[in-house]
Amino acid sequence: MTTVQPNQKSRLNNPEPWQDPKIKPYVSIKNLTKTFGEKVAVNDVSLSIYKGELFSLLGHSGCGKTTLLRMLAGFESPTSGKIFIDGVDMTDTPAYKRPVSMVFQSYALFPHMSVEQNIAFGLIQEGMNKSEIQDRVNSYLKLVQMSGYEKRRPHQLSGGERQRVALARSLVKQPKLVLLDEPLAALDKKLRERTQLELVNIQEKVGVTFVMVSHDQEEAMTMSTRIGVMNEGRIFQVGEPTEVYEYPNSRYVANFIGSVNLFEGLIIEEKSDHVIVKSTMLEKNLYVNHSASVPVGAQICVAIRPEKVMLSLDEPKGEYNWTSGIVQDIAYLGDVSIYYVKLTSGAVVLATVANLVRAAERPIQWDDQVYLHWKSESGIVLAV
Ligand code: ATP
Repeated sequence: MTTVQPNQKSRLNNPEPWQDPKIKPYVSIKNLTKTFGEKVAVNDVSLSIYKGELFSLLGHSGCGKTTLLRMLAGFESPTSGKIFIDGVDMTDTPAYKRPVSMVFQSYALFPHMSVEQNIAFGLIQEGMNKSEIQDRVNSYLKLVQMSGYEKRRPHQLSGGERQRVALARSLVKQPKLVLLDEPLAALDKKLRERTQLELVNIQEKVGVTFVMVSHDQEEAMTMSTRIGVMNEGRIFQVGEPTEVYEYPNSRYVANFIGSVNLFEGLIIEEKSDHVIVKSTMLEKNLYVNHSASVPVGAQICVAIRPEKVMLSLDEPKGEYNWTSGIVQDIAYLGDVSIYYVKLTSGAVVLATVANLVRAAERPIQWDDQVYLHWKSESGIVLAV
């Protein structure tokens, strides 16, 4: 189990377009629903995506993200709702007439064509003249760092190179919107990480709007300006990577993005700047230093990320936010270790600890009695 490192960098202008009510969305999805017989694949989704964003749709298999992407492409028609791109209603526009291109996980390159023929294909169909096509193809080959590979066939390329050609082919027609369906899923881990950064660099250079489908939360966190987390056809939360990680709005999002400890409990004090929660899972009450719009007596849960849980051999001093347990397991991940601590209540709490010293020199080992504690700003109260 690993935790994710949220993308710290803000890539668009400040303030971000989604924070500026004067800026109009570039892609507007309004109350979009798609049913297949009894199955509601996409359920009343409304979403605003801004120019130049790399927006990711993230969620478990079957949550409806590909269906939503296919409706944007025009490969699937909505059961109800509307899609606007750059202010124009595209809901009933056929796929080939939309200013949209798609990049598939399987690359979908023509195997009998060379790299340059693959990239030029769409431009030839548009009737562009030969020298203009050559210039355009060359500049996009350069952009994806594939100059010199013009004459190769797809089978003579690595997976990463094929995906770069597929990207050049989708960008060469200068679409308003590029849709990417798990574009890096076929690559191995190392290559995928490198290609993620390349893809972001290319997207930033070209300035085109990307909407990407992924079920890989680390990938979405690294690459995206914002993420829409989907579950059962609905969007549960939309936010910048740090926002959905640090401030998930539900148990589902907290669990889906990274690892999390969830403490079920009752609100016993509710004030404008804090709440106090009693959880039978813990020895001490939880003090959370933000307000929660739920009354005293409400059944809620408090989410705390494992990297925010600290371990010690000595009993903490405060009245709140600590408990004790026995180290049941230690997962060594190189840079960090994850401690699985079993509490007397039977609950197991995860604590991620940076490996500042070698494993053998660790002060806390298997079967040790330890104290877990956390700051009052580390908890998030989740009512749903
Ligand atoms: P994955 O990550 O596995 O690709 P997803 O989130 O992209 O999943 P979708 O492919 O959008 O999910 O599918 C959403 C739901 O709609 C699933 O339950 C799927 O079985 C169903 N579905 C998708 N396409 C069709 C179809 N053409 N006919 C019937 N059901 C479909």
